[in-house]
Amino acid sequence: MNMSVDQGLQAAAAVLARARDVTLFGHVNPDADAFGSAIGLGLALADRGATVRVSFGAPAEVPESLRGLDSAGLFVPFDAVPPAPETLVVLDTGSIDRLGPLADRVAATRDAGGDVVVIDHHVSNTRFGTLNIVDDRSEATASLVLRLLDAMDAPLTEPVARAIYAGLLTDTSSFRRATPATHTAAARLLAAGVDSAAVARGLMDTHPFAWLGMLAAVLQRAELDPSAAQGLGLVSATITLADADGLRAEDVESVINIVRATREAEVAAVLKQAGPDTWVGSFRAVGRLDVSAAAVALGGGGHRLAAGFTTHGTESEVWARVRAALAQAPRL
Ligand code: MN
Repeated sequence: MNMSVDQGLQAAAAVLARARDVTLFGHVNPDADAFGSAIGLGLALADRGATVRVSFGAPAEVPESLRGLDSAGLFVPFDAVPPAPETLVVLDTGSIDRLGPLADRVAATRDAGGDVVVIDHHVSNTRFGTLNIVDDRSEATASLVLRLLDAMDAPLTEPVARAIYAGLLTDTSSFRRATPATHTAAARLLAAGVDSAAVARGLMDTHPFAWLGMLAAVLQRAELDPSAAQGLGLVSATITLADADGLRAEDVESVINIVRATREAEVAAVLKQAGPDTWVGSFRAVGRLDVSAAAVALGGGGHRLAAGFTTHGTESEVWARVRAALAQAPRL
């Protein structure tokens, strides 16, 4: 079935209008777009009287920087999610494996005759729902949620607007990559009462003092290879378990945003050690190389200019694979 995004949103609004019990998932290790989208839609459904829960497969708690978005306490840890949710909405999640231990709920809901609504903007989305609204031209899943709320005629309360604003803010790199339509949407959210400075500070502008020491250690070891990434230049940094000790995931995630500023490199890559031989990688590109293809080759996915993956091996093995994947990535 091929339908336009607007038709998909109308269909989703119809599904959600009759749903009495809705479970919303973001991807594992949620960012502000995944969690903000789930909370924004969840709050609107709860305001209409539905029973609502929001969850993700890992970690077992909401990351500290996102906790303020859940003003109504909709979050439940993954092990408290019903085995077969009545109606499931999966947000900002390109494939089932990105749900971690909650992946089995998709088939459980579908097998029980329930709707699984997938709302996402990842170009690599595998369309695993019974209704899939995938728009890779949308800068954030939160933009699609705002359009869905409009299709539902849902009022834009401040908590709903704040959760959506959080997703727009982070997925557009603080509106650096936002279309005029997204700025217009953001204006509506501000008019609904969102305090933009407070949201930005809570999400991305606050770190513990130990963050400075981690940055000093990691950035000192960063490397620039102008010949890598097809001669477009690669800047790379590695964050070991020791570097990240005592810091929050959001403190460690910030490293890529510093490394990517390197003028001589088209591609920034950061490897974060997640276990003795497990590495989580992040790619950012300026605009000339499709790093989502490189991430897919490494078992992950994402967007053309921002993508990631999880893989196993020694640090040097993984870097060799990263460089090989970037050597094969399509030019834009
Ligand atoms: Mn997103």
